[in-house]
Amino acid sequence: MNDIPIQPQPQPPRSDTGIQSFFLPPGTPGRPRIARAEGIWLEDTAGNRYLDASSGPVASNLGHGNPRVLAALEKQARAAAFAFPAQFESEANLELGERLARLCGPGLDRAFLVSGGSEATETVIKFCRQHAVVTGQGSRWKVLSREPGYHGNTLGALAVSGDAHAHEVFGPLLRAVDRVPAPFTYRLPANHTAESHARACAAALEEAIVREGPETVLAFIMEPVGGLATGALVAPDVYYRTVREICSRHGVLLIFDEVMSGAGRTGRFLAADHWPDARPDLVTLAKGVTAGYTPMGVMMAPAAMADTLARAGGFMQGFTYFANPLSCAVGCAVLAEMEERDLPGNAARMGERLRARLHGLRDRSPIVGDVRGLGLLMAMELVADKETKAMIPLERMAPYRLQQLGLQHGLALYCRRTNRGTYGDWVMVSPPLVVTADEVDMLADRLEAVIDAYVAELSA
Ligand code: PLP
Repeated sequence: MNDIPIQPQPQPPRSDTGIQSFFLPPGTPGRPRIARAEGIWLEDTAGNRYLDASSGPVASNLGHGNPRVLAALEKQARAAAFAFPAQFESEANLELGERLARLCGPGLDRAFLVSGGSEATETVIKFCRQHAVVTGQGSRWKVLSREPGYHGNTLGALAVSGDAHAHEVFGPLLRAVDRVPAPFTYRLPANHTAESHARACAAALEEAIVREGPETVLAFIMEPVGGLATGALVAPDVYYRTVREICSRHGVLLIFDEVMSGAGRTGRFLAADHWPDARPDLVTLAKGVTAGYTPMGVMMAPAAMADTLARAGGFMQGFTYFANPLSCAVGCAVLAEMEERDLPGNAARMGERLRARLHGLRDRSPIVGDVRGLGLLMAMELVADKETKAMIPLERMAPYRLQQLGLQHGLALYCRRTNRGTYGDWVMVSPPLVVTADEVDMLADRLEAVIDAYVAELSA
């Protein structure tokens, strides 16, 4: 499955019965139609094959068609495909809860299981709020977050996401509270180093807490390693420690959104494990926990908080599909594979190999401005001019064109221009954690060809 189909086979005619009709204007060509997927490869109905360079939206941690996961799914489906947690306990739920608590470590003891990352964000906010109310801290309701940042697409999750465009469009429906700047390391304010800027960003959090009134602030939510909103931003170490100190000083809960960074992707089970002196109070997970095989979102919370709510009448949260048995069974199989094959270790090793290749590309390409990330959560930032860091003009549609060129070179890429051009264009380079050294090299070769083709297109 490793030949590069530079001239893809023609795609079937576009259909308007699919979800794409909400995104692609009538008359524009459709997206390739998926036929099958195996390992790190996706194949469309026309026979073109694509290396899964971004794990879809950074979800397919195990690659596709894993026999153990498929067997677990089938076994659970035959046993009891559905049972409602308000009526029945399931073995799969108990086992997944135990596995997650062990992997997340002390203080992150209980797993509340939902259907995706956005629901996990909703859940963690409601959980913190209800806990504040029952413990006599009802004045605390404000959730501070970062700009830019992303915590999901439901209204509550968008309200705490630093996404200026979403706030502009859905504005009156969102009750947004203050946001503080994310500590970018590439585009720095004048007279700042990455570290001094990170300190200033942490100081901005404390200023916001004081400005809002600490007694009104419930939580601060952030992605420890950024996802699509920041292009895999990793802050200098001092940032994490300082943020933790500030939250503790003011009684503000620190929530790490590890929907993208969790489940082994950065080289540890949690990205938080890279900064042991900045342990969060609560964590959300999703994507990698079921590796994209079935929908799943997770809130990990301290046992004491869960018990307090349980004694006070119970957490006011629940969905038809919470702790869904199929997703729980898949999650158990995914985490077992991850541990037995030491996939976080592989993510760390392959991440370094990938980083070296991307640095090589950055050094020779006129448009690769920055390479950042941790483990196999990496991104490249593209610019029109490396000297000035000027962005590629909007009308060149960098994300769309790169994705198209990727398909032509047998690469499935996930690209983004964030906040309507305020911050940058980036390409997520985040293959499944099972990727081998040869596959990393092939990915890098193809990516270089894509970037070169785009440079040629820009200068044509
Ligand atoms: N939080 C982060 C950091 C994410 O990257 C995402 C999705 O990309 C979400 C939350 C939302 O997750 P979902 O799309 O599963 O609702």
